[in-house]
Amino acid sequence: LTEKLQNVFKNLRSKGRLTEEDVKLALREVKMALLEADVNFKVVKGFVKDVQERAVGQDVMNGLNPGQMVIKIVNEELIRLMGSETTEIQLQPGQATTVIMMAGLQGAGKTTTTAKIAGKLKLKGKKPLLVACDVYRPAAIKQLQVNGEKQGVEVFSMGENHKPVNIAKAAMEHAAKNGNNVVILDTAGRLHIDEEMMEELQEIKEHVEVHQTILVVDAMTGQDAVNVANDFNQKIGIDGVIVTKLDGDTRGGAALSIRAVTGKPILYVGMGEKLSDLEQFYPDRMASRILGMGDVLSLIEKVGEDIDEDKAREMGKKIKKAQFDFEDYLESMNQMKKMGGLSSILSMMPGMNMAQMKGFDSEEGEKKMAQMEAIIYSMTVKERRNPEILNPSRKHRIAKGAGVDISEVNRMIKQFEQSKKMMKQLPNLMGGKGGKKGRF
Ligand code: GDP
Ligand code: MG
Repeated sequence: LTEKLQNVFKNLRSKGRLTEEDVKLALREVKMALLEADVNFKVVKGFVKDVQERAVGQDVMNGLNPGQMVIKIVNEELIRLMGSETTEIQLQPGQATTVIMMAGLQGAGKTTTTAKIAGKLKLKGKKPLLVACDVYRPAAIKQLQVNGEKQGVEVFSMGENHKPVNIAKAAMEHAAKNGNNVVILDTAGRLHIDEEMMEELQEIKEHVEVHQTILVVDAMTGQDAVNVANDFNQKIGIDGVIVTKLDGDTRGGAALSIRAVTGKPILYVGMGEKLSDLEQFYPDRMASRILGMGDVLSLIEKVGEDIDEDKAREMGKKIKKAQFDFEDYLESMNQMKKMGGLSSILSMMPGMNMAQMKGFDSEEGEKKMAQMEAIIYSMTVKERRNPEILNPSRKHRIAKGAGVDISEVNRMIKQFEQSKKMMKQLPNLMGGKGGKKGRF
């Protein structure tokens, strides 16, 4: 009886509520992580305060310790703050022309991003016109022309001897005649916020109907991003933000700061110098990047949250003994799905940062997984349990059942053997929650 009672107490404790002390302790770590990620100090302070209020008194989920529970809340709050869904540039309805003005400091990536966006719009069947309004930097016009040509879109320029506002007006006439349904104004930045630049942008807005003003910010500006975003938003008004140079090793604090201060959505992120390197902004990915959760620990935490622990432990044992068969493979695929898909898991692996994931097409990866699944489902249970009995005639039947070529079946089996080998080398990865304690 005493033992039973003790267990009840243990359960009560582990299912308790977050105390102020729990939350404070964990938030100290979070604060450090945010500052390290170059989130603006004031933003950090406000954020931590909000989370503190929200977290104290909340139930600790089963299987999590208080520290992990706080991190879970922090992660959710970060995602919420950065916008819980992905957004896009708002285009005018129907055939109406959309005018987009790019703004930002010099070197932020306006010209490059202008060309990147043009490529995306072209794919959507739009006919963009890029307008060279940067008349200060000698090479700026040429740069836009070169990039426009690469993307196969037209560039409008009038050289360096006109005012930007007049170039913009002339470009509108050109677009009307030429049937361009999107006009993107590539404006001139300055090294620092200055009045002249703001006036120039305001003047354009007064004379041309700009539908979307997009602020381009270099992720590496970190703390400064707040002032930049605030000034641009107050003086000219912005509709959305693009954060560039996230392919570097910055932790992306700028994205959080900007969003917190302006409340405007982050539309895209620049992931490289190539014109194809513009990606949708995913708040959840950015949140883990900012928190620096790229470690196995967090992967294990996530496993602990979402999957049946006993199954995981059993699987871990099987992997150690290399008794992993296709049934287990199916099971692990299902668990992977629960954990948010392949890309979400990969992004949490050590050494797999955003930059390295660039070449990884998660859609492609997930399609492949679906195909694998179809193949395994076409096997009999006996075949799944004993892959070695798969002779050519069985493979032929399986291929037919899954609607794939027999070479796909062969490749899948080979891959399976390979991953079995690989998994033998990471025996602890799927072994449940070992090593989870002691984080806080
Ligand atoms: P602008 O002065 O705002 O027009 O900036 P540019 O478009 O000329 O870009 C400045 C520099 O940043 C150029 O060398 C670009 O190639 C580079 N750049 C722009 N976006 C990115 C990005 O997302 N990643 C990286 N690595 N470089 C970028
Ligand atoms: Mg430029």
